[in-house]
Amino acid sequence: MPAFAEINPMELHMVAINEYLTRVPGTMPVGKIVVHNRVKWQRTLGLDGFRAWLDDPPPKEHYKLCTCGWAPHLKAHYRSAPPSK
Ligand SMILES: [Zn+2]
Repeated sequence: MPAFAEINPMELHMVAINEYLTRVPGTMPVGKIVVHNRVKWQRTLGLDGFRAWLDDPPPKEHYKLCTCGWAPHLKAHYRSAPPSK
């Protein structure tokens, strides 16, 4: 399943303005929210197309509070859930 096929133009735009994380933040970054894409999460960022990035609050409309179990030490994180699907 090619992960990038699921990235819609809105996400590509976000990718352009937000750098992907290369590792999970040890603590919740102040003034930022942590978001990952819709790919099933992996321990290693970048594996199988799993990506995460920081964004500015408030969460965008298509960000959903995520309880997938990834990065449990973070107070909260979001999943990018584009309305296109
Ligand atoms: Zn999650």
